[in-house]
Amino acid sequence: MLPFTRPTLGPLEAERVSEVLASGWIASGPKLAAFESALADYLNGDGKVLAVSSGTAALEAALLATGIGPGDEVIVPSMTFAASANAVLRTGATPVFSDVDLATRNLTAAGVQAALSDRTRAVMPVHFAGLAADLEDIWALARQHRLRVVEDAAHAIGSGYQGYPIGSCGDLVCFSFQANKNITTIEGGAVVCFSDQDAEQIEKLRFHGISKDAEGNVDVSMWGGKMNLPDVSAAIGLVQLAQLDAWVARRRELAELYLAEMPVHPALHLPPDGTGHSWNMFNVRVDFAALGTDRSAFRAQLREQGVDTGLHYPPVHLFELYRGLGGKPGDHPNAEQIGTQTLTLPMYPTLSDAEARSVVHAFDSLLSAVAA
Ligand SMILES: *Cc1c(COP(=O)(O)O)cnc(C)c1O
Repeated sequence: MLPFTRPTLGPLEAERVSEVLASGWIASGPKLAAFESALADYLNGDGKVLAVSSGTAALEAALLATGIGPGDEVIVPSMTFAASANAVLRTGATPVFSDVDLATRNLTAAGVQAALSDRTRAVMPVHFAGLAADLEDIWALARQHRLRVVEDAAHAIGSGYQGYPIGSCGDLVCFSFQANKNITTIEGGAVVCFSDQDAEQIEKLRFHGISKDAEGNVDVSMWGGKMNLPDVSAAIGLVQLAQLDAWVARRRELAELYLAEMPVHPALHLPPDGTGHSWNMFNVRVDFAALGTDRSAFRAQLREQGVDTGLHYPPVHLFELYRGLGGKPGDHPNAEQIGTQTLTLPMYPTLSDAEARSVVHAFDSLLSAVAA
């Protein structure tokens, strides 16, 4: 059975982990510093990189660092993973959902505009599947309305925008290194920030609010959590990061194969390509009703042919928590349509061309049963 995602891990990660385990220093230390500096080199921008224990922690720390809290609103796309909106709730602020573009699944400037209020303090573009959101237009709106821009770049380590790496510029950019992402530290994440003030805040937020003076005297000046990334994870991240560009190139080859070879059928909608796309996921939309079937039957038939699929994502505003906060069906039609029609196909660097073609053949056989 082909999974929809699979981490790429080799003997070098195991070797580096063993070295850290034997070193006597397994928590945050020299490997963390090396990983942060390698990430900063990779991004090649002016940002300071602070690694944390997850992408979710990165979003929480970034939002908390801005001072956003109760009474404030943050605009979040409804088509994302729950963590994007949950992180806003963590600060006491209110996530205000926006619809997304049906094809790219990304937040649009028009969507942000429609969600603006007097209380809006920030906007959170999510670079869906690794395709950069329209940052130029979102930055322009942010400047005009004095909003912070907290990018959920969980899918987008290795992605580019207008020729520059995502995370090389911006306001606050949050990465995840969870197992399904373009590189993994098992669990882990990072915030890239572009002001000393944000960096100081996040430094304290990630470790008990502790600061040290020049003599090493410890003080606690504010609340901080426990979000530091251990050296065991950082050592894995160093090995992974060195392979990121090659892996993104392989993801692109596979995406091009799918785009060229998947059947042309009015009920099947392929994702748009874009320069800088890192193809963390390959998500299609299927009009199951037009095929006279439903998604669970279709997925079962794919599984019979050895193909497992994912569902990214149910629209966040319709989860129980967010319905309780006012979300209702019809609020965000594109996100809702994607939520019911989406399938995530196998996509990971070690997927072979032959395996990708077996996915294509499975779609061929299921769709050819129904006249176009
Ligand atoms: C994975 C993911 C997160 C959370 O990252 P973790 O490292 O799992 O905490 C946040 N947002 C999106 C869009 C994600 O895919």
